[in-house]
Amino acid sequence: METDGSGALGPRRVPSVIAARCSGCGRCVAVCPLKIISLETVGYHKNAVISSGEDCAGCGECAVNCPLDAIEC
Ligand code: SF4
Ligand code: SF4
Repeated sequence: METDGSGALGPRRVPSVIAARCSGCGRCVAVCPLKIISLETVGYHKNAVISSGEDCAGCGECAVNCPLDAIEC
């Protein structure tokens, strides 16, 4: 069996932000227990950015609390 050498035991459910839907409201930033989401200014907008996805606990709080369904886990 081949591995990718990372030592990972299985696929991890790291959330991703759908930037086109994100309003920059900051709710996901507030609810993330690990504080790995921040707001980044992109042009005239703010977007949520998950800064260190490898640390994500996969709790899903960010996705559940996003009013615009802009985070997929
Ligand atoms: S799934 Fe949980 S730990 Fe991971 S980014 Fe979202 S709120 Fe943070
Ligand atoms: S909760 Fe949703 S809309 Fe608000 S900043 Fe996070 S991803 Fe963007």
